Amino acid sequence: MTDAAQAARATAPGRVLDIDRIRADFPILAEKINGKPLVYLDNAASAQKPIAVLDAMDHYYRTSHSNVHRGAHTLGDRATTAYEGARETVRAFINAGSTREIVWTRGTTEALNIVASGLAKELKSGDEILVSHMEHHANIVPWQMVCERTGAKLRVIDVNDRGELDQDSFEQQLNDRTRVLSVAHVSNVLGTINPVRDMIAKARAHGAITVLDGAQAVPHMKVDVRELDCDFYAFSSHKLLGPTGIGVLYGREAVLKDLPPYQGGGEMIERVTFEKTTWADLPHKFEAGTPAIAEAVGLKAAIEYMEGLDRELIEAAEKALLERARELVHTVPGMTIMGTAAHKVPVFSFQIAGLHSSDIGTLLDQQGIAIRTGNHCAMPLMARFGESGSARASFAFYNTLDEVDQLFSALAKLQRLFA
Ligand code: PLP
Repeated sequence: MTDAAQAARATAPGRVLDIDRIRADFPILAEKINGKPLVYLDNAASAQKPIAVLDAMDHYYRTSHSNVHRGAHTLGDRATTAYEGARETVRAFINAGSTREIVWTRGTTEALNIVASGLAKELKSGDEILVSHMEHHANIVPWQMVCERTGAKLRVIDVNDRGELDQDSFEQQLNDRTRVLSVAHVSNVLGTINPVRDMIAKARAHGAITVLDGAQAVPHMKVDVRELDCDFYAFSSHKLLGPTGIGVLYGREAVLKDLPPYQGGGEMIERVTFEKTTWADLPHKFEAGTPAIAEAVGLKAAIEYMEGLDRELIEAAEKALLERARELVHTVPGMTIMGTAAHKVPVFSFQIAGLHSSDIGTLLDQQGIAIRTGNHCAMPLMARFGESGSARASFAFYNTLDEVDQLFSALAKLQRLFA
């Protein structure tokens, strides 16, 4: 990294993000891809893992693994303590009131399905579910399935040309039939940070249940579910430096307790007879079967790692990466950006005239640069912008300004050679 670039990341007097030290925490960043140093710009799809996470999972398996909540032996106790300790770490991370409100899931997708299918019993013909045009399929399809089952109607908040939620459209569609508002805290394609606190307050005034898809928010900002005042908040560990296979559903206790279980089996019951089965208490009634124990330990380590960083410096560094990308757009003829909202995380979607996004991805990979291409599980949003797909570079705090420069010089070259 150049001195100037490093200096640009010093944002507060006497405080500089030690980028070399941070990068050393992520062994994969030293990989070579196609003979070139890896430039990993696909963080919105899945973030890389620090040694702290790898070590925590390794240590757990070496010293503490058994099944949880069985209580018959020491290892069982160790595993249960580690697993439930991770739940407390998540609770504190998002400032939930109680660990009873923290449900382990497989990820954001499963969390949203638990909510949607659980709320089906409350919904009937004439009711409305309000989502937005910028949702990931995970926050569209479960609601469509519920609409089919119940006769409720799906309504959609428009997105403006900058890639922001159109607040007039929101207010026009919000009414006393709106039973659920379910929107992304941050868009995975546009990077837009939505004004969800205000939207939640308005939806609650109409008696709607409020659900936030936080998959792209938690890696970039401090989330406080009590301040947001939402009923449900969903996110995935793997986008937050943690392992795959685990995620979180926060549910306000008063609402969560009335939601029916999603799956049946061991762990989620209080008592089983052939005549009648009763459910375990919160949050266990949503956690059928042997859970992802080592993954919970890994997520705890990821959160502790994040919390050990200077959050203000991290946010400033991410902003600097996005700014650099915006400044360099003019160096690639024919490049257009999707999502120009002022308030956004470092997710940078673009097209280059004359180049297909999937070709951009393949050609960049030959240079060791990893981005994502395609519809990003957001086909309706792509259709809204008249596109079938985009290329997306998504930055994390461990990326450098030099890597942004490498991306743009590779893109300029591709444009010269192939567009
Ligand atoms: N919602 C958003 C905004 C996302 O970006 C993603 C993943 O890309 C998801 C939901 C689904 O997350 P997962 O695949 O981890 O369940």
